[in-house]
Amino acid sequence: MDQSKPSTPEEKEGVKKIHRKVFLILILMVLYLPVVVLTYILTHSNTVARIMAFIFFITLVCLGSSMALAKCPRCGTSLFFSSFPYCGIPLFYSFLTYKCKNCGLRI
Ligand SMILES: [Zn+2]
Repeated sequence: MDQSKPSTPEEKEGVKKIHRKVFLILILMVLYLPVVVLTYILTHSNTVARIMAFIFFITLVCLGSSMALAKCPRCGTSLFFSSFPYCGIPLFYSFLTYKCKNCGLRI
């Protein structure tokens, strides 16, 4: 692991993109329940509230999938998804990790 190596502008831009996705996921998770409840209060319709909840859910699934497949801007390995050595069982790291497990790039 080379943690002292300075980041190139391309690596910084890649890290910024990852930060934006994580921030968007966290915002959507925080807003999920208030938006669905507010939709129900404003429309008095279960159907509209369910549609809003479904839209939020699908958006979160798409962003989460995109994040799970995110690659490190420096070494190109997966940042948040790996597998246990020798057995290949998928292992999912936290979105809140602060560095690449392979090269040590600070995220
Ligand atoms: Zn890396």
